[in-house]
Amino acid sequence: MIEVRVKAGVEGKIKGFFPWVYNVEILDVKGSPKPGDLVKVLDSRKRFLGYGYINPNTKIAVRIMSFNEEEEIGRELIKKRLQQAFEYRKRLRINSNAYRLVHSEGDLLPGLIVDVYDEYAVVEITTYGMHKMKEWVAEALVDLLNPRGVYQKVSDYSVNIEGFEAKEEVLYGTVPERIKIWEEDLEFFVDVIKGQKTGFYLDQRKARRLIRDLVEPGDVCLDVFCHTGGFALSMKKKGADSVIAVDISERALNLGKENASLNGLEGITWVEHNAFQFLRKLEKEQRKFDVVVIDPPSFARTKAHIENALRGYKELCVRGLKLTKPDGYLAIFSCSFHITREHLLEVILEASRDVKRQVRVVGESFQDLDHPWILQMPNTLYLKGIYLEVL
Ligand code: SAH
Repeated sequence: MIEVRVKAGVEGKIKGFFPWVYNVEILDVKGSPKPGDLVKVLDSRKRFLGYGYINPNTKIAVRIMSFNEEEEIGRELIKKRLQQAFEYRKRLRINSNAYRLVHSEGDLLPGLIVDVYDEYAVVEITTYGMHKMKEWVAEALVDLLNPRGVYQKVSDYSVNIEGFEAKEEVLYGTVPERIKIWEEDLEFFVDVIKGQKTGFYLDQRKARRLIRDLVEPGDVCLDVFCHTGGFALSMKKKGADSVIAVDISERALNLGKENASLNGLEGITWVEHNAFQFLRKLEKEQRKFDVVVIDPPSFARTKAHIENALRGYKELCVRGLKLTKPDGYLAIFSCSFHITREHLLEVILEASRDVKRQVRVVGESFQDLDHPWILQMPNTLYLKGIYLEVL
């Protein structure tokens, strides 16, 4: 097996279970690795640190899958990891037939995401190494779940960085155009094949529950960046009088409308619009809402985008505060890896000062428990939500 020796000093963080080795941290390599090859990571004195896979063409050179010398990477390890991931999710007794089965580093399977929707699994692979293990993954999933179908989604962003070739396709069985799932007392159609990400924002399950706590029957609500209506339907189900739900994606909105009828919920107005412009329009019309949810897409994919992202969040926050009735509630989320909870709190504080609306924090949520994160990489806690009462 190819051996990668890391520079003196680097071993400390790997012994603390940090799962990446950067290119610049490599002392030397025994063998000539191709992208995706399996490697053994050693310290500068050739003592074992971990097993992983390498991509010599990327800044993150090695991703470690095991810190245990007895646990070499292969078909069996993939099977074991998936089994462990499954056991954990079973323990959670998630009140839904849709959940994240594998959350990359959080499940010691870097480069792999697996979402389960009813009897189907959706796989997203983001690294060359995991791409090479795709057959093992598909095989293990079939053994574990006995699904009707397994579908692969591809993120162009990671494929471009890692340099492997992949296409979106059925890996096993058949996969319908839409899958019906349930979560608590709501049902949703999920558009796995043409939808965003793997089709549904499972990570916001807990937030959808929390938002119900803030809505009172008769409320007038606003769901900004509504996608297929997760929050809008939850608010309506709690008894909101009306909800305005806005998103830029016609496809997502159409599914949102169908989801509303699927649940027999009326009174949601679906608006296809750029959210920033739409918020300005509502403000001009002096509209006010009891509960406002703002759940934008990621604005900061890399550290270089932090400044811009913060400006984006600030603007959303300012507009959100202005649109919230006195003593109403505003929930604002960030799913950007590089925006921390502290960034978000700072933005809220500035916005509150600027628009002269005092706020108090009444709650907070993160990605739900089926999306575990690791302390060695704090940004794997990527989803943060702050719930404010706006005085
Ligand atoms: N709240 C949703 C998830 C939101 S994901 C849920 O719980 O299911 C972010 C959404 O923002 C996507 O649906 C995307 O289509 C939408 N979006 C991206 N840019 C936008 C823009 N400028 N204006 C409005 N919507 C936008």
